[in-house]
Parts: sequence; C-alpha cells; structure tokens
Amino acid sequence: MTAEILCVGTEILLGDIVNTNAQFLARELAKLGISVHYQTVVGDNAQRLKSVLQIAFSRADMVVLTGGLGPTKDDLTKEIVAQYFGLELVFDQKAYDMLEKRILSYGLEKISESNRKQAYVPKGAIVLYNDNGTAPGCIIEKGGKTAILLPGPPNEMEAMFAKAREAYLNSISENTIFSVNIKIKSRKEISAQDSGESAVADKISHLLDLANPTVATYAKEDGVLIRVTACAENKEKALEAINPVLEQIKSILGNSIAHISEAE
Ligand code: ATP
Ligand code: MG
Repeated sequence: MTAEILCVGTEILLGDIVNTNAQFLARELAKLGISVHYQTVVGDNAQRLKSVLQIAFSRADMVVLTGGLGPTKDDLTKEIVAQYFGLELVFDQKAYDMLEKRILSYGLEKISESNRKQAYVPKGAIVLYNDNGTAPGCIIEKGGKTAILLPGPPNEMEAMFAKAREAYLNSISENTIFSVNIKIKSRKEISAQDSGESAVADKISHLLDLANPTVATYAKEDGVLIRVTACAENKEKALEAINPVLEQIKSILGNSIAHISEAE
C-alpha cells in the first residue's frame, strides 16, 4: 500500500501558513506502515487540483487530502475528487443535522446555501462526521484506489484522522499498534517525589526519546500513567520491542509501580 499526501490551499503556497497537516499525516501513516512516497501542495484551483490528483493516483493506491472542504467558492476538493471517481454528490442528513446544530449554536438564524452544500458527500463514500467543525470528510474507495478527504483546520483534521483510522486505515494496515500501561502509585500511597509526573519523567528521561517503542507519561487523577507503545507486524513482535524497555522501567521505578497492563 503506497500513499500520497495532497494538501490543498493557496495560503500554504504563499507561505502564509506552515503545512503542519502534512507533517502530522506523514507521521501517522508511517506508524501504520503505509509508505508515503510524495507530498504535494496545490492552490485552490480546480484545474491544477484535478491534474495533481491524476498524477498522485497514477503513482499511489491512496491519496490523503486536506483542505478545501469549507463552504466557500474556493473550496473545491470534494467536488473535484468526486468528479475524478465519477461519483455524484448526495445529501447526507446526519452531516446536515450536525452542521445545522453547530451553526445555530454560533447564533446564526439560518443555514446559508453554501453551508448546506457542505452536507453533500460523494455517493457510496464512508462519511467522516466532524465533531469540531462544519465540513464532513469522507473515504472513497473505488477501482482499487482510495481517497481520504479531511478538512484543513488542524484540530478538525486530527480528530477526523482518528475516525479514518478506526473506519478504514487500521483494517488495511499491515502493522499493529500495541501498548503496555504502567500505572504509578498515587500521591496517597507514595511520596510526592515518587508520584509526580515530572519526577517520574525525570527518572526515565533517557527513554522518552525512543522511536519504537515510544514511551510517554500522562498525569491522571489517580496517579501517573506511563505508556509504552510499539508498532510492529503483530502483537508478539510489538511485545519483543516493548519488553526490554519495560524491564528498564521496572528496575528504575520498582516499588512505585502499582500495576502493569496491556492496552490495545
Ligand atoms: P474551512 O471550513 O475552515 O474553510 P477547509 O477544509 O476549507 O476548512 P481550508 O479553507 O483549506 O480548509 O483551510 C482552513 C484553515 O485551516 C486555514 O486557514 C489554515 O489555518 C488551516 N489549514 C489548512 N490547511 C492546512 C495545512 N496543510 N496545515 C496547517 N493548517 C492548515
Ligand atoms: Mg476553506
């Protein structure tokens, strides 16, 4: 499975914004073991978008696009991609209900025609509903090619990418992501010096820069959580990567550890 990242937006070409979406997507796709060979940026221009889309699909199985799903005239991504696949746009009631609720909550009295346009999705696509904005995204799979359409604003894009992972990417990925959780005793059980997040992180600081597995600390209500996560072909291979790191953490934190559990 090879993929390309295609970011749509004249603002990126002009240097007005930094293309952080490409960085996020590149990392996430790599974690899933999906090879990305090209990243492209194109402005809000129908002809050029069409042309880069054709080039991308001539080289890759999947194209992940961000941007241009908004309500205005220069937001063209959905229309051009639907055209590429030969799909008509159909009204999606749930997408409409969600955007109507959001827009009315902004204090507007009625939904404009351009906002209503956002509730149309390519026929047969898996719709990715937007919990942080008005534009739904979608996954189109046809003739051995897949397009994943995500909105431009990074918070919307990142939350929607998680949905795309659940709905589609995990099932085609040859890699699995597996985590082990190490729960540290709470402040009530051990001293502040041993239970605080920064104290814990300091003790295992040499492990926090690892790439695979990654080690991260989280301050939870009931004590610090350390998560060791590996990406590998299967659970056994992931555990092979995790176990030596787990042993190091156990020897460093010893009695401060409340329990260790698997988390998938
Ligand atoms: P909207 O409904 O906000 O118009 P959209 O899906 O049409 O969403 P764009 O209009 O392309 O997205 O971009 C909206 C905003 O999202 C940009 O002004 C910018 O702040 C941010 N954004 C877009 N693309 C990127 C990107 N590749 N990297 C980082 N931020 C981006
Ligand atoms: Mg827009």
